[in-house]
Amino acid sequence: MSTTAEPAADARRDAEAPALEVRDLEVTYPPRGGRGPAHAVDGADLRIGQGEIVALIGESGCGKSTLARALVGLVKPTGGEVRYRGDVLGHSNAALKEHRRHVQLVLQDPGGALNPRQTVYDAVAEGPRLHGMTGDLNARVHNALSQAGLRPPEDFIGRYPHEMSGGQQQRVVIAGALALGPSVVVADEPVASLDASVRGEILKLLLDLRDELGLSALVVSHDLGLAWNIADRVAVMYLGRIVEVGTVEEVLLHPQHPYTKALLSVLPDSGHDRSPTLLTGEPPDPTAIPDGCRFHPRCPLFAGLDEDARRTARCTTDDLPVLSADPSLGAQVACHLAGESRDEGAGATKAGDDRDKDSGAAR
Ligand code: ADP
Ligand code: MG
Repeated sequence: MSTTAEPAADARRDAEAPALEVRDLEVTYPPRGGRGPAHAVDGADLRIGQGEIVALIGESGCGKSTLARALVGLVKPTGGEVRYRGDVLGHSNAALKEHRRHVQLVLQDPGGALNPRQTVYDAVAEGPRLHGMTGDLNARVHNALSQAGLRPPEDFIGRYPHEMSGGQQQRVVIAGALALGPSVVVADEPVASLDASVRGEILKLLLDLRDELGLSALVVSHDLGLAWNIADRVAVMYLGRIVEVGTVEEVLLHPQHPYTKALLSVLPDSGHDRSPTLLTGEPPDPTAIPDGCRFHPRCPLFAGLDEDARRTARCTTDDLPVLSADPSLGAQVACHLAGESRDEGAGATKAGDDRDKDSGAAR
């Protein structure tokens, strides 16, 4: 801040830098219960652009929540780095506190996240109080409730969690995040505990916040179908690593990775006339990551190779590459066989009605 040129340069770099990014992230949990260390995130690059919504999708246990918590500074990476607007996140308490003002976590279960004895006002005011943002706290709380769709705020501030529906409770949790004026929200399974009827409303709220406030978001889900309704881009994760990344159209309409295809094939309204691809083999275990491609023991493509092809395939010998997070490189897939399996339009009928996508436009 010593010269007038620096802030302008900072602002320009800020405007261009991704909102949030991880590079070669690793989170290894120490051994427990007689099992070895768990490589929950094992080399992942991911970028969330400013004003962008990215969906992070994968089965339970693949490391989504760990990645999400690392992004907000609640889990310390054992390798790689987290960057907010280009700046590497430090480890000091002050740096982490500052980070969490800009990057807020919204959890799955609002019933669990809210204190049953706290009013809506106190729940939403908690974050700003913690950060010493008490100037005109009243206006801040009202504004956040209104942004979260609880209008008029006066009708809600005196209520307790049990006096609200699950959807309203989740809006209170989101208001609590918004009260800090964050630029990124990391939402871990934000609708998983809600009735199907209100899921769409909460997802629509995140879209509105992106459009109205320029808010960026990472939305974590085990449900690939959810990505269609909310995301600009999708990253599919398997056993600690991103295996496919691209725009929603690329990944959902033209999936390349056999894992993505399997996830798509079991969606209830996928419109496939084929039977679903059920993944066989052991559920993924981050304490025992298979050699070669970590997905190969469950891979339908690998299983379909004849014996000779299996012997020469790189699937059993070569680890998957870490995909670049740079969206300008286009859709990417980490599979030794995907080039030979191009299956144009594999998911082309999926929910195309919802957002009126032109399937011919993708790729
Ligand atoms: P997801 O959100 O995709 O279900 P998680 O990030 O919660 O995945 O967990 C990834 C893996 O890390 C799981 O196998 C889980 O058992 C393991 N894990 C999560 N937290 C811990 C922990 N504190 N100690 C050891 N292992 C953990
Ligand atoms: Mg999780």
